[in-house]
Amino acid sequence: MSAETWRNWAGNHTSVPARVVTPRSTEEVAAAVRAAASAGLAVRMPGTGHSFTGVALTDGVLLRPAELTGVRSIDTATGLVTAEAGLPLWRLNQLLDEHGLALANMGDIQEQTIAGASQTGTHGTGRDHAGLASQIVGLELVLADGSVVTCSRAERPDLFDAARVGLGALGVVTAITWQTVPAFLLRAQEEPMTWDEVLARLDELEAANDHFEFYWFPHSEGCLTKRNNRVEGPRDPLPRFKAWLDDEFLSNTVFGAAQGLTRRFPGTIASVNGISAKLLGARTFTDTSYKVFTSSRSVRFKEQEYAIPREHLAEALREVRAAFDRRGWRISFPIEVRLLPSEDAWLSMAEGRRTAFIAIHVYHRNDHRAYFEGVEEILTSFGGRPHWGKMHTRDAAYLSGVYPRFGDFAELRDELDPDRLFRNAYLEQVLGS
Ligand SMILES: Cc1cc2nc3c(=O)[nH]c(=O)nc-3n(C[C@H](O)[C@H](O)[C@H](O)COP(=O)(O)OP(=O)(O)OC[C@H]3O[C@@H](n4cnc5c(N)ncnc54)[C@H](O)[C@@H]3O)c2cc1C
Repeated sequence: MSAETWRNWAGNHTSVPARVVTPRSTEEVAAAVRAAASAGLAVRMPGTGHSFTGVALTDGVLLRPAELTGVRSIDTATGLVTAEAGLPLWRLNQLLDEHGLALANMGDIQEQTIAGASQTGTHGTGRDHAGLASQIVGLELVLADGSVVTCSRAERPDLFDAARVGLGALGVVTAITWQTVPAFLLRAQEEPMTWDEVLARLDELEAANDHFEFYWFPHSEGCLTKRNNRVEGPRDPLPRFKAWLDDEFLSNTVFGAAQGLTRRFPGTIASVNGISAKLLGARTFTDTSYKVFTSSRSVRFKEQEYAIPREHLAEALREVRAAFDRRGWRISFPIEVRLLPSEDAWLSMAEGRRTAFIAIHVYHRNDHRAYFEGVEEILTSFGGRPHWGKMHTRDAAYLSGVYPRFGDFAELRDELDPDRLFRNAYLEQVLGS
């Protein structure tokens, strides 16, 4: 196929690949990888472009994931499910549900491909249940030499631990085996609380809930807390109109209009944030797990997210809030705070430590630099690790100091891709050349 411009969801990165290939099988991926190597071109497979960083970009061969979406096996007895890399998460969720299965935990959206989401360490929030990489039990990859390999805890365990969150740097993932769990219902309890109450009750709210998270609306005392817990039932979903009103109209349409307003009239931000905190009021409903974990996001934004050791969360948040007053930032997007148990994939943001995530956003047309860099300065002082798919300015020198297994990952990369077939500028920044 002839060259075309590839653009990510946020619209802050584009690239023009030399070639676009749409493989339909692992063998076709291997053939495309070998052809790229002999033509001296780099090669990468993106997902759906939902990363805010340049992690997926290539000016070499772009392997479109659109035809690599088969489901190879679903074992309802063991919960083991193997699917091809380009399958979107929303499709996986539907299929699992049809078979009485589910992913134990997920992030906020389900648009990404299963490989794209897991390669950057995508996560939600959870006391006991970790991110996507921790739910993977097997991978099939095409390596830079065109060979096809599989790995798991028992087979090539180093490759397994490195490649579950591999940034596409070790090979093209062609299939993923998931350890799923029996389908379950979640009871969602969303409730406004003040900043002081949330910070005072952090430990209690974390301990008492399967999935706790909250949003703080800058320039206000208002927070919105979300508590999702596994329940037997019955299902009690939001009435269709209420779901549309809350999730589509208020969270996307009105919020989008408010972003336009505050962009033109920054003086309105504090009152708009105060109103948003109140509008998104208390509600309780019970639904299929993935319908509670995820929602649609139609307002475009840019995002940065840092993972810090959980024990520093309250102190870090107070420092971020103090910086708002000191630096005069005017921000119309809420700050999202999530929690996760320790993970073992080498480059997972939660590797080796119980983790708190602090995510900040700006409207996609607004300048993010002063705000993102200011918050980054605070969170790196706590040993923060940036989300691989979200905007940041860190390089390999910094990252090697906050990831204990960084050196092992680099060694494996040298061994598997000595000529850097899977190179791009972002990998050079974060992993080194
Ligand atoms: C609206 C929105 C909400 C989000 N919510 C969350 C959230 O709740 N939690 C969270 O952690 N993140 C979240 N993210 C970030 C997002 O989950 C990650 O950036 C994710 O990596 C994007 O997946 P993708 O399919 O779009 O992959 P892309 O961004 O296209 O690619 C990501 C990486 O995966 C690699 N890759 C893709 N397929 C393969 C393959 N087959 N083999 C090897 N490498 C491959 C790409 O080369 C690239 O390096 C969100 C992003 C957006 C825009």
